Amino acid sequence: MTMVNNTAAIQPVAVTDQRASQLLRIEWADGVVSELPHGLLRRKCKCAECVAAQRAGQPVAQGSAITGIEIVGEHALNFKFADGHERGIFPWAYLRELGVAS
Ligand SMILES: [Zn+2]
Repeated sequence: MTMVNNTAAIQPVAVTDQRASQLLRIEWADGVVSELPHGLLRRKCKCAECVAAQRAGQPVAQGSAITGIEIVGEHALNFKFADGHERGIFPWAYLRELGVAS
């Protein structure tokens, strides 16, 4: 995976999707490891559609397994979820934030 020098602290060195336990494991360049449940990532999606739904108080799909992961440029991941949602872009910095908070 390509590294970006100016944000070295929040660059991943390894991303492992543990489908059996529905955990996305990210090892960061500074040695921190984040284990992010798929369902958390689905609920925390920040795409326009999900943000609007959250603001309107609509329930966001729960417990959605990740079925596909794509790297977007050098700064983000795009997840596909079992409920058909596939527009969520998760920048590394946001994933790192979620990992620390959970
Ligand atoms: Zn979304």
